Amino acid sequence: MKAAMLYGIKDLRVEDVDTPKVGAGEVLVKVKAATTCGTDLKIFQRGYVERVIKLPTVFGHEWAGDVVEVGEGSDWPRKGMRVRAGNSAPCLRCFMCQKGKYNLCENMIWLWGAYAEYIKVPAHMVRVNMQEIPSHISYEEAAITEPLACVLHGIEEVGVKLGDSIAIIGAGPIGLLHLLTTKKMGAEKTIMIDLVEERLDFAKKLGADETINAAKENVEERVKQLTGGYGADVVIEAIGRPETWEQALKLVRKGGKVLEFGGCPPGIEIRVNTELLHYNETTVLGTFHATPLHFRKALNLIASKTVNVAPLITRKMPLEKIEEAFEILATSKSEIKIAIQP
Ligand SMILES: [Zn+2]
Ligand SMILES: [Zn+2]
Repeated sequence: MKAAMLYGIKDLRVEDVDTPKVGAGEVLVKVKAATTCGTDLKIFQRGYVERVIKLPTVFGHEWAGDVVEVGEGSDWPRKGMRVRAGNSAPCLRCFMCQKGKYNLCENMIWLWGAYAEYIKVPAHMVRVNMQEIPSHISYEEAAITEPLACVLHGIEEVGVKLGDSIAIIGAGPIGLLHLLTTKKMGAEKTIMIDLVEERLDFAKKLGADETINAAKENVEERVKQLTGGYGADVVIEAIGRPETWEQALKLVRKGGKVLEFGGCPPGIEIRVNTELLHYNETTVLGTFHATPLHFRKALNLIASKTVNVAPLITRKMPLEKIEEAFEILATSKSEIKIAIQP
């Protein structure tokens, strides 16, 4: 089969590799669509922690497809079923899993290999984090289950409430998913912040109430102005840079909450003024990844169109052009997610 192998930073090659053999309980899926994501782009551009991905590997983690083979001893799924799975499956047994923090599982199984003709899903993942896709949604939409699951987890932890004002730093795919979701939750006002005008225009089209171009405007002043002088109830950082992590702390009202969502490169520290935590009672939290429950919820919300993710897919490209796809993502101002079609 053809697969996009990642060898290192900016070294992605489409090669002929062996189609995986299916063992007991495992499932082989013909990938119909695999969507690009900010994490993929970060790994492509600057590498990633070994804990999560070991190179060389078949790349990509957001996908959906058709079941073509089911290993022995499994009565679900059946051949021909449209499914999505992963990209993670917690062990359900370790200390963190026993605490119910499945996203922090000590023995998490990660599945890479979406940018390929076929992907093999491990037996444990079939049981823990594989879902059937309803027939009325596209494979591309179903592939977005993974990032939406992470966003749902973050929003749940930070506790967005009806009538909250929300400031979101970063109008990329993750920031936009936060926008779509918080709008649906009844945010009174959503404010999108980015450096790129095209992205802000796109956010407006998706329903952002206000946009701030951080390259041209004083973000702190504008957010205060738009929130009666107080700052937003909830601020979400969806970029993953120390500057914007620190900026998020300055945009929140007294007693408000900051969700530091974007992952920074390893070893980064930020400065936090103690008065902010003490006198202002600011809550600051980070969230990582999602649990199988969030994956299920995310797929259901996509299926019901409660969160309409279709507009986020701005282009479709064949697997052979995957390197070009990442070059486009790295340089383009208006591209959000590219659906790779093996
Ligand atoms: Zn992703
Ligand atoms: Zn575990």
